[in-house]
Amino acid sequence: MPALLGLEIPEIEQLLGPGQPRFRARQIYSALYRERHSDLLRLSNLPLPLRRELAATHAVGLPVVQRRFDSADGTRRYLLELADGRTVEAVFMPEEQRQTICISTQVGCAVNCKFCLTALLGLERNLTAGEIVGQVLLLAAGNQLAAEGQRLNVVMMGQGEPLLNLPNVLKATRILLDPAGCGLSPRRITLSTAGIIPGIEELGREPVRPKLAISLNASTDEARRELMPIARKYPLRELLEVCRAYPLRPWERLTFEYVLLQGVNDSDADAHRVVKLLARLKCKVNLIALNPGPEIPFRTPEPDRVLAFQRILKRAVPCFIRKPRGLDIFAACGQLRKISSPA
Ligand code: SAH
Repeated sequence: MPALLGLEIPEIEQLLGPGQPRFRARQIYSALYRERHSDLLRLSNLPLPLRRELAATHAVGLPVVQRRFDSADGTRRYLLELADGRTVEAVFMPEEQRQTICISTQVGCAVNCKFCLTALLGLERNLTAGEIVGQVLLLAAGNQLAAEGQRLNVVMMGQGEPLLNLPNVLKATRILLDPAGCGLSPRRITLSTAGIIPGIEELGREPVRPKLAISLNASTDEARRELMPIARKYPLRELLEVCRAYPLRPWERLTFEYVLLQGVNDSDADAHRVVKLLARLKCKVNLIALNPGPEIPFRTPEPDRVLAFQRILKRAVPCFIRKPRGLDIFAACGQLRKISSPA
């Protein structure tokens, strides 16, 4: 059965046909994304025959929780089953001041970064807009978040490269940010990319878009090409040029992520080069000490090294260390590979 999740109002109008009053589409849209109904028969402001017909011909299309892994730190990793039986992961991270949901944009990933476990899955397929939104709805409902989602952050940093599935990512973003839809704040949704230049340019032209984070991960082209084969296609000079031309909103700045790998890209000289690369950019840096995994041929630097690297960057640019979440259940950055045993 076709899914309703992922549809925007004009598409719902079209599906209902001319026999229904126009406000019906808005009612259904609101029931799906704002009220987060998962049972079509319960949409009590619709006439019963319409409810029955909808339920007989369409699914809501929420993913189904196949397994949930709970970390000692409160993080929850979900293995979600999609309509075609494929599975994908999403992560819920509670904090005192806010809650963050990390969602996937593809099943697996094609980008093949050498430090990332998801790369070992390869790419199975793109997620639809409904499957992307569905992860947020499901995890929000499962963790009793306020209906308005005011303190809810969404990061597109799970499986997949969002800019290689841009049309679906943009559609999902419009629904997530629409006050009549999920109603998230535009400051609270972020997309992370390995640095797909044409995708960044395209994103910048969109009126409704997430904030942008870029995985830098190295201070020279040579090192970056080794770690991220995609960098052969998109060299640093061009990448940073596109970043400087990126049309930031007045309140916005770019985020650069930098995975620290012991003895590979974590020297003082690397830090000084990063400072140079990021000159003249309105940005901040998130450092991520490697989250290890089976078959990942790198080591996590000592905490002192991470702090020393941060100190150098901090003189030039706001720089934070991303605290790993859910390391014990393979839920942290770069660990999403559908692993079912504890670490
Ligand atoms: N494909 C996107 C989003 C997914 S990765 C991207 O590349 O940005 C999200 C972040 O996790 C990226 O910054 C990536 O560099 C980082 N990451 C990947 N593997 C990691 C690992 N093993 N340890 C720490 N961070 C990792």
